[in-house]
Amino acid sequence: MSIEVSHISKSFGGFQALNDINLKVESGELVALLGPSGCGKTTLLRIIAGLEAADEGSVVVEGKDATNQAARERGVGFVFQHYALFRHLSVLENVAFGLRVRPRSLRPSNAEIKTKALELLRLVQLEGLEKRSPSELSGGQRQRVALARALAVEPNVLLLDEPFGALDAQVRIELRRWLRRLHDDLHMTSVFVTHDQEEALELADRVVVMNKGQIEQIGTPQEVYERPASPFVYHFLGSVNLFHGRVHNGRATIGSLDIAAPDDLINTESKAVGFVRPHELEISRSPNGKATLQARVSHIHAVGATIRVELVDASTREFISAELTRSRYQELALVVGDQVYVTPSNIRVFAADLDFSI
Ligand code: ATP
Repeated sequence: MSIEVSHISKSFGGFQALNDINLKVESGELVALLGPSGCGKTTLLRIIAGLEAADEGSVVVEGKDATNQAARERGVGFVFQHYALFRHLSVLENVAFGLRVRPRSLRPSNAEIKTKALELLRLVQLEGLEKRSPSELSGGQRQRVALARALAVEPNVLLLDEPFGALDAQVRIELRRWLRRLHDDLHMTSVFVTHDQEEALELADRVVVMNKGQIEQIGTPQEVYERPASPFVYHFLGSVNLFHGRVHNGRATIGSLDIAAPDDLINTESKAVGFVRPHELEISRSPNGKATLQARVSHIHAVGATIRVELVDASTREFISAELTRSRYQELALVVGDQVYVTPSNIRVFAADLDFSI
């Protein structure tokens, strides 16, 4: 089931929550809506679901205009952050609920409903817990009951709003992997909302990065991480070093580096900002002939496979954060106070008038 969202806008009072959103989710895709709090993710998901009406624009599901269709006619299943299970119903009855409330003509028999609910509980690995009440389950187990309940009505599209938001980190990671497998096994089209970059990058086929009611970038996890389309995306997806400078005569002077200006800024005269991820900085003991800045090692965080080295730029006094493999760190034998040379292997320069606040 493909989903096509075209020119969707939505205001609440005088506040524009969504501004001209265009997005196509292909059949079978798992797509993440990612962005900071208040950027409009949930509003967009609710509009796709039919729980909220847009002021403008259309939602097309599998080629059919669903803009004016009610939620129950769209064949979508939902899972929300607060897995609101029915406390007075057993786990089995929670899962069976969506089938029991069907009109008599469409409702399966009691025996069929029970078989289906038990099958789903097996799928979400909760076999044997069907008689328990929700209060007798852990948070992760409740979340899986909520998923089984959403799946009971065989939705073509599964919409999840911060489905793992209320869980601790380890359970989140397990459920994330499990959801990916489930999505693939059931050949669903799924859209989930998250503000957690790692979750979006690990789980999704494509990530929609949103900011202030607009889409900043749509791409695979690798594309949005390695080739951010805007300063906002750079900032939002992982840690990054910012070097301030200028573009002048086709050159970019960024911090104490002098490099060729990027093509889109070659004829520009403006302030500029260079973005470099910590793992894109090489550290050496002597100048290596490439664009290099001098810095002093101020802190070393040597736990784990990746070593984080904090430095201070010798000319601008700005902090720089670099990441090295353990073997490179041992080779360099770095200690705090060392004077070193730092070379970016990749630097993206944007005009500084672009908004990169988050
Ligand atoms: P979060 O991650 O915090 O859930 P979000 O990106 O999902 O945020 P939305 O819930 O879509 O954001 O809200 C977008 C903006 O619209 C917010 O500023 C919010 O306050 C506003 N908003 C959402 N629903 C309503 C409503 N029913 N009435 C008024 N304003 C609303």
